[in-house]
Amino acid sequence: MALQDELREQLIKQFAADVVILTEDTGRDYYACPTCKRHVAMSNEKCPSCEQSLKWDNVKKKEIERLGSKTATLTFEVPGDFVRSDCRKCPISYIGKSDKENVYECPLNMRNNCPLKIV
Ligand SMILES: [Zn+2]
Repeated sequence: MALQDELREQLIKQFAADVVILTEDTGRDYYACPTCKRHVAMSNEKCPSCEQSLKWDNVKKKEIERLGSKTATLTFEVPGDFVRSDCRKCPISYIGKSDKENVYECPLNMRNNCPLKIV
């Protein structure tokens, strides 16, 4: 029975849930996991504490409504044969682990939706 509950809980956590903005006792707002209410960072696709999958669309929309938006640009050199989504050659990628295998991770979490513009 307990095991079944645990499995069910894990299954539910695979469905991405909207991150919530909570307020600390000090009055500062922070991004929180909707399941365990602990702090999460914008780069987290999963809650580091309880593994809840996270969705940021709502938060991003709210922040833009609240604060407006600016565009940040980062310029860096890439090899001449570099193409978008080539994480292996991307200077900002790093090596992470996925199912015991090494994979090139994107620090922007945009591995399948590479935002780089090659000029
Ligand atoms: Zn959590």
